[in-house]
Amino acid sequence: MGRVLLAAPRSFCAGVDRAIEIVERLLEQHGAPVYVRHQIVHNENVVRRLEGLGAVFVEDESEIPEGEICVLSAHGVAPAVKENAAARGLRLVDATCPLVNKVHAEARRYADGGHLVALVGHANHVEVIGTLGERPENTVVIETPEQARALKTDKPVAVVTQTTLSLDDVAPIVDALEESLGTLRRPHADDICYATQNRQDAVKAMVAQGATLVLVIGSQTSSNAVRLVEVAQAAGARATLVDGETPLPAELLDGHETIGLTAGASTPEALVQAVAADLAQRGFATLEEITVAREDVHFRLPREVASA
Ligand code: SF4
Repeated sequence: MGRVLLAAPRSFCAGVDRAIEIVERLLEQHGAPVYVRHQIVHNENVVRRLEGLGAVFVEDESEIPEGEICVLSAHGVAPAVKENAAARGLRLVDATCPLVNKVHAEARRYADGGHLVALVGHANHVEVIGTLGERPENTVVIETPEQARALKTDKPVAVVTQTTLSLDDVAPIVDALEESLGTLRRPHADDICYATQNRQDAVKAMVAQGATLVLVIGSQTSSNAVRLVEVAQAAGARATLVDGETPLPAELLDGHETIGLTAGASTPEALVQAVAADLAQRGFATLEEITVAREDVHFRLPREVASA
């Protein structure tokens, strides 16, 4: 008989909870359709459910008919997007996570103070595209230590990061920047958010307690879920991303007695329970929760939806 270690915390973070609640409340208050620019959070299951309720997801604000509501996803946008939306007469409701907004504010402050902003993150990720858009002339995206070493500038350099990276990936990049450019300005609190950090710590704890296979429930587009797979692998386990809906292939579980189970910050808890039930049926009958932190973070809803 095998056992399952269940990560805690896992699944929705405060920013995802808030973003989904914004769309649900707008649908209740205004009826369908409610337009959302980009996937509200990077999870197919969430997006499909909201589509069923009348949300319409588009990739660009220019696809939204004039005068309609335009919800901005949790990942944040460049200021130019808000300007375009306003010029089209769209009614903006901003579901950007407050912790992403904090990174935007840092990027503005550093750039306006004469720094070159080194934005550590994945250049094609929507959050990074949004942050870069704050001060594109004075910001450069850095993805690797090699790019960090190649950076040449006469300006002082400040570092901000995407919120969903792993500290282990960021450290060598920051070290490389420091080696070639000297002292860097950095925000007092890390940009990698509490939810990302806690979920990664829980994965490391599960591997330390014997999980040889870690299943991470999440979508391919979810940066924080993909990082959880990498963190598990770096800790020495096999790890893979699963969507929580497709049955697990039997050969995936072969040879493993202790399986770690977790879910990215945009994955609903119902999918975790479904996978845990599936594992129990396949002989992984004992379930033990591995708790590394308790989360009680809650973000206020924006004015547009809070009043009703
Ligand atoms: S993962 Fe972190 S930054 Fe992203 S929405 Fe959740 S709390 Fe906000």
